[in-house]
Amino acid sequence: MNSRFAGRSNDRKNLPRLGLHTGIGGGIQNSIRDAHEKGCTTWQIFSRNPRGWTARPLTEEEVNHFRRMREETGLDPSIIHSCYLINLASPSAEIREKSISAFHDEIERGLMIGADYLVVHPGSGRGVPTEEAISNCASAIHEAADGLEDRIRKAGFHILIENTAGQGEQIGRTFEQVRDILALCEDLPMGMCLDTAHSFAAGYDWRDQAATKAALRLLDRTVGIDRVKAVHFNDSKAAFNSRVDRHWHIGKGEIGGEGLARLINHTKLRRLPFILETPQEDKNDDLDNLKAARALIEV
Ligand SMILES: [Zn+2]
Ligand SMILES: [Zn+2]
Repeated sequence: MNSRFAGRSNDRKNLPRLGLHTGIGGGIQNSIRDAHEKGCTTWQIFSRNPRGWTARPLTEEEVNHFRRMREETGLDPSIIHSCYLINLASPSAEIREKSISAFHDEIERGLMIGADYLVVHPGSGRGVPTEEAISNCASAIHEAADGLEDRIRKAGFHILIENTAGQGEQIGRTFEQVRDILALCEDLPMGMCLDTAHSFAAGYDWRDQAATKAALRLLDRTVGIDRVKAVHFNDSKAAFNSRVDRHWHIGKGEIGGEGLARLINHTKLRRLPFILETPQEDKNDDLDNLKAARALIEV
């Protein structure tokens, strides 16, 4: 599925793929039904409880059902967001061990269901210098992927480091830090997931045309724009450069429609899947945000 996706040209007629983060209650296949019914062409899931260390094993029946429904609906690519408890940069031996084991499990589940991308937050250094936290994160990824490297490569599966708002001692606030993690993992198929709200809160000003141009140039010079495989397309409730991670409805936050439109229509980003992780307080929120995002796309 990846090759078909990567083969798309940047032709303006190729509209960006839009997706939601959908739930897996009652079986992972239900996430596809929900996304498809809402008009998505791509989607993101948690493959397990995102706030617990233990995961219910996936049944063969569920996996087959998921793969079949994906074929039928053509949703592509398939993105998993890792469990929130995982902290690959942790200096604590106990948290590190638990995180490596949970992340290994995330990779295995991703391979089992035939997902394309597994998104992970690089973690928090909890008091250690940034450089050390970055090297802890990279070595934890290697340990988690140990023994699965061949399967990962064969499947075209990629682990994506998501940039963060830089809240607390989170690493991954700057594109340089994301680059440094990727540079230490060059032997693994990896890339980046660009979260628009996190980067805005981290100090990349998508409201301003010149600042956006400079930020995307920096992204290309550091990570490399071809290594960005997915976008988390969110407005931000938190102010510019606040380092606070607070997603908001498309066009109604601090970034606003104009800034978000600049990103989704950018020739180098249009080829990517755009996943909304906007608040779901009202039952119409998802559809309203999809509509708002679609309205930003220049055809
Ligand atoms: Zn995330
Ligand atoms: Zn995100």
